[in-house]
Amino acid sequence: MADLGLGKETTKDLTRIERIGAHSHIRGLGLDDALEPREVSQGMVGQTGARRAAGIVYKMIKEGKIAGRAILLAGQPGTGKTAVAMGLAQALGEGTPFTTIAGSEIFSLEMSKTEAMTQAFRRSIGVRIMEESEIIEGEVVEVQVDTPAGGGAKTGRITLCTTEMETVYDLGAKMIEALQKEKVSAGDVITIDKASGKISKLGRSFTRSRDYDAMGPQTRFVQCPEGELQKRKETVHVVSLHEIDVINSRQQGFLALFAGDTGEIKGEVREQIDMKVAEWREEGKATVVPGVLFIDEVHMLDIECFSWLNRALETDLAPVLIMATNRGMAQIRGTSYKSPHGIPIDLLDRLMIISTTPYAEAEVRRILQIRCEEEDVEMSDDALELLTKIGMEASLRYAIHMIMAASLVAQKRKAGEVDVQDIKRVYSLFVDVKRSTQFLVEYQQEFMF
Ligand code: ATP
Repeated sequence: MADLGLGKETTKDLTRIERIGAHSHIRGLGLDDALEPREVSQGMVGQTGARRAAGIVYKMIKEGKIAGRAILLAGQPGTGKTAVAMGLAQALGEGTPFTTIAGSEIFSLEMSKTEAMTQAFRRSIGVRIMEESEIIEGEVVEVQVDTPAGGGAKTGRITLCTTEMETVYDLGAKMIEALQKEKVSAGDVITIDKASGKISKLGRSFTRSRDYDAMGPQTRFVQCPEGELQKRKETVHVVSLHEIDVINSRQQGFLALFAGDTGEIKGEVREQIDMKVAEWREEGKATVVPGVLFIDEVHMLDIECFSWLNRALETDLAPVLIMATNRGMAQIRGTSYKSPHGIPIDLLDRLMIISTTPYAEAEVRRILQIRCEEEDVEMSDDALELLTKIGMEASLRYAIHMIMAASLVAQKRKAGEVDVQDIKRVYSLFVDVKRSTQFLVEYQQEFMF
């Protein structure tokens, strides 16, 4: 058999290649503190209107004001709808579940439409399970500082364990200043000189990713009651509701997660799990992390799926629903009616619509440059120029896909960087949609009478 050269060297980086997904360069929405989009930031380029709107959605989610609503991203293919949804999920923080499905995926022979939708919903809801551990003397258990609009901390309190178990300090302005100067946050071990109010930091007993500034009322720390060192609840990990469903509904337990053989899950199992999670929440053992469910090509859903979504949005445990479409007026599947974006009016009514617009040449160039960096590909300026032109004329996604192929072609001729000739070669080997349809149309005219 001919040696295809697919030996060890060419496959060794497969795991890395898998990690470089289509959107792996997106690390957030690229907004500044005032939630205004920076031109290029966190892998995001341009599309400022949509990113600004997504910033407002981010704020609504953070403030818990999004319930019952959903977002629709409407725009032409390749204008970054998935990228914006991904950026929003990233901005919401590590551990925020992000599930993406295409509308057409809902229809399969293996499970009903509603089961597929339920699974997608429950994949997008995380349960953060807490673990208990000892609190150390002198450790800050809770920091609360109210900063009124206009700046300047006015009131605050700090709860910590001391030898005398005097746990709550109400803070004066001076002490708050000292706290801020020392950047004290929960988990630090400090001493406070009660006479002078001087704070000194002794170190950290455990690492916590949250900033002192980010400590909101939702931060859970157990206060120490007098006389006894209590246990603190600490975050350990986030699992999705769907994962809990699967583990509890199959004989092979968690192995089903790897087999991908989830099948339909019984309603009773889900009810029991919901009750258990509610119990954990009450006992402070777990918190629920609503994630993001992104449904691409939402016009592919049918009327039954839309009704299901309408109801599901009302439930307690609903993720943030972001849908995307590139259709204008379209038929609502399962009916003979036409509607904007192929979505029924009652659901449209709940949507906040964000539109994405086509990119300018400079933006396409910048996105391609970022993708080259992400894929570890060196490219000459001329090659990038040509690739940008192709991105403008064919499609951005086609141009992005050419990067890796061109890099392999360059490697074959033992070149360290991709040059114009490599781009040309890939362009001739793989046709874009316009050229492939053109070819078939011509072919049809010649042969298919
Ligand atoms: P479709 O309608 O075909 O699903 P889309 O609008 O969802 O397309 P994306 O898949 O988000 O488009 O974009 C195509 C590629 O370009 C992706 O790899 C995406 O990460 C990247 N991309 C799009 N917009 C931006 C942007 N503003 N900044 C950085 N990368 C982007």
